[in-house]
Amino acid sequence: MSQPSTQASLWPEGKRFAFTVFDDTDHATLENTKGVYSFLSDCGFRTTKSVWVMEGDANRGKCIGKSCEDSEYLRWILELQAAGFEIGFHNCTWHGLPREEIRSALEKFAKLFGHDPMTAANHTGVDESIYWGDARLTGWRMHFYNLLTRFRNRRKYRGHVEGDEFFWGDLCKEHVKYFRNFVFKDIDTLKACPFMPYHDPLKPYVNYWFASSDGHDVQTFNHCIGEAEQDRLEEEGGACLMYTHFAMGFSEPRGVNPRFEELMRRLAKKNGWFVPAGVLLDHLLNRNGRRQITSAERRRLELRWLREKIFVGTT
Ligand SMILES: [Zn+2]
Repeated sequence: MSQPSTQASLWPEGKRFAFTVFDDTDHATLENTKGVYSFLSDCGFRTTKSVWVMEGDANRGKCIGKSCEDSEYLRWILELQAAGFEIGFHNCTWHGLPREEIRSALEKFAKLFGHDPMTAANHTGVDESIYWGDARLTGWRMHFYNLLTRFRNRRKYRGHVEGDEFFWGDLCKEHVKYFRNFVFKDIDTLKACPFMPYHDPLKPYVNYWFASSDGHDVQTFNHCIGEAEQDRLEEEGGACLMYTHFAMGFSEPRGVNPRFEELMRRLAKKNGWFVPAGVLLDHLLNRNGRRQITSAERRRLELRWLREKIFVGTT
């Protein structure tokens, strides 16, 4: 495994570390999310906001939120993009759709935002999720995961299964550059996965994978970016690619969650590189070249993720 040598000099413009967020759009509405983005923008952060381009069936799925078919919401998403935020893909909508609908959703994404999605993440519960559930893992780790989850996610997700009605692997390869897999509790995502973005020959329909740090709700997010953790990220010259749901507790009647505000303002004062996930991953790809993960590297990632899933509860 190649080590990230002299990480302090990794970042452009003399920056000492990198920080970004991939925001999963579950539950997002203008009311519960717009204020969070105004705050991020004012602080100088430019992150990635995922969207559902298709309106789903309100009677299906557990995590309903606004889609790009809502004109007011779409107007705001386009304003975010114009302000330098990246728009990411979170499957078509909050429930599964078959292949031809997925093709339409990808075409619609490109039409709305002017290009294919650079970054994407599966929405849990959606049939066309790709290499998801037990397919995130290989070998005995897959069997162990199935025991742990009582076989609930065994062969459940079929985006990568050729011939299945939910297969879209070839479309994913054609249209999506970076896809998320493992999430770790440490603020320094790059320390947990120093070779990202990487290609996995056992998961050929994804061009490059990236890992994330776990900030799935406001408490977890705040815990992950505590003062000591921020200082360590800076000292180590690392990169945090946080995975969160900004609709889950970040917005309060009088503004954003006070602890979140305090920590993000503190982070914003540091000499960090605050660019969207796709820009950060492009930078790492240019620097590292096209990395193909080895069996030993894959095993280490899977073991660490499983261990944290059992003892910490990461997603
Ligand atoms: Zn989701």
